[in-house]
Amino acid sequence: MATALSWPAFGDQTNTASAPAVVVPLGKSKLQPFDYRGVKLLPGLFQRQMAQTRETYFNLSNDDILKGFRREAGLPAPGNDLKGWARGRADATFGQWLSGMARLSCALNDAALREKAIALAEGWKATVRPNGNCRMGTYAWEKMACGLVDMALYADYDRELGLLEKITNWALNHFDRSRSRANLADRDGRRPHGTLEWYTLSENTYRAYLLTGKEIFKTVGDLWLYPSYWNLFETSASPAGAEFLHSYSHINTFSGVAMAYAVTGDHRYLKILENAYDFAVKTQAYATGGYGPGEWSVPADGSLGRALEIRSDTAEIPCGSWAGFKISRYLQTFTGGARFADWMETLLYNGIGASLPVQPDGRAYYYADYRLGMGTKLYHWDEWPCCSGTYIQAVADYHNVVYLRDTSGLYVNLFVPSEASWNHAGQPVTVRQETKFPEENEVRFALQMNQPLKMAISFRSPDWTTEFKFKLNEAEEISPVKSADGWMTVERVWNPGDRLQLGLKPQLHLCPVDPQHPRRCAVKYGPVLLAQEARFTYMLGMSGDNLAYKLTRETDDLQFRVNGPGAGGQGPGMFRPFYQVPERLPYRVYFDLDDPRFL
Ligand SMILES: [Zn+2]
Repeated sequence: MATALSWPAFGDQTNTASAPAVVVPLGKSKLQPFDYRGVKLLPGLFQRQMAQTRETYFNLSNDDILKGFRREAGLPAPGNDLKGWARGRADATFGQWLSGMARLSCALNDAALREKAIALAEGWKATVRPNGNCRMGTYAWEKMACGLVDMALYADYDRELGLLEKITNWALNHFDRSRSRANLADRDGRRPHGTLEWYTLSENTYRAYLLTGKEIFKTVGDLWLYPSYWNLFETSASPAGAEFLHSYSHINTFSGVAMAYAVTGDHRYLKILENAYDFAVKTQAYATGGYGPGEWSVPADGSLGRALEIRSDTAEIPCGSWAGFKISRYLQTFTGGARFADWMETLLYNGIGASLPVQPDGRAYYYADYRLGMGTKLYHWDEWPCCSGTYIQAVADYHNVVYLRDTSGLYVNLFVPSEASWNHAGQPVTVRQETKFPEENEVRFALQMNQPLKMAISFRSPDWTTEFKFKLNEAEEISPVKSADGWMTVERVWNPGDRLQLGLKPQLHLCPVDPQHPRRCAVKYGPVLLAQEARFTYMLGMSGDNLAYKLTRETDDLQFRVNGPGAGGQGPGMFRPFYQVPERLPYRVYFDLDDPRFL
């Protein structure tokens, strides 16, 4: 590896053998992700969800998953058919399942999961025709490309990407090259010949190029660039012409911009990516980080807030979280900016982290419902939808969003119970983060190393806290230094066993849905969206009251009582974190504060 700061991040991994990437990216990186090596989640909300996800996907039958592919290839096809989107064959999500399993197996050093992923890849490989025909359109093929790149990177399978090369050769000669700009009547670019979401193909083909140096992957990446949409963002974070398109895929396409930057080093791409982030966060996203009512991108004219009146499919959560994680991380990696973790954190608590778990029979959480009045968490009407593919990817990605690093030391993005181990200046270091945040305000970091070590630890200081105070070894108060990239840095010679305590002070606050609806708000405590219990309860009104006087915290697990009588004989419902709300229980997350109608 020519530089320790280039993408992708290989290096001092101990749990999975990996060779360096062949191509040194021209787009330089300031920070390195841990890339699924050296980060462990400790017990807590996210570790539980991750472990459950591993169990669900690990226990799926390989024969069932492969049945449709084998049948179409004329091979013996034991097992049972999957349902829903995977009826016939599981091509809509198969590549993402491989990707998620590969990433999780690497993060957990989980040989059994890795072997399962390899058995699935080998089983699928046997169904591909000698000419590389894998019977997939652009939509499924793109996911397969991701799966095979991840299998190489994280499961050490087919490191030269020979199988991907084979299906790429076929795809080059097979896919229609119209590359139509998506529009109101064709929102995912499928016309005229079924090239669904073709504008998402560059990301993973460029990743394959960086990994192997094979020109064919660069050729394909170049072929599927989307300048007619991307260029809108060159000078604006809220451009005309970006509205009424398929929402998730028109965010996910910016991961192609990120990889185009990595491959070319062209700073124009970086500008587009930064504007895309602001576009997503400031004009498209709800208070959960989720976006795309009815899967539409919206103009910044109040459509976001108005959609709360009529749409129950308010935001596509697992897919949307996956795309948000990727764009945020790419930006942090390239620019070093702390602020790009804001969206990650929001999605972690209120998007993917507040999702219903995927079930073994294929029931999967797809749409969150933020309608005024009431919503419920429901499973999607079809089994094994797109969101069952991105669910395991996004949950696996928890290992990859909490920390970053560079030669100066560690960067702490998020306050999640976890541990990061890596080599700093040739010395092994482990930083353990223990916390019950957001239920408690203290985060404790413990350092393990063999000898005293000069190192920086940099922390993201979120805007939801009014305090950000450090104590060293329960005594000495120390002041961090704020960096140009927005990090609060503590640099010193650390001793083995040193402990650093961070005190946070999250605030209750209102989040207006958009500038056109300043009093149509959600309620948050720090980064956590609060939902009101909606079984025969009265809505939250404010009549000029300060939120801190309106809500009183009652329990350790963040339940808040509304101080007020309600109306119409109905009391106001308790508020609690949206991530605690179970399936089917009615809740409210948006309120017209000046007009709390009950009928
Ligand atoms: Zn989806």
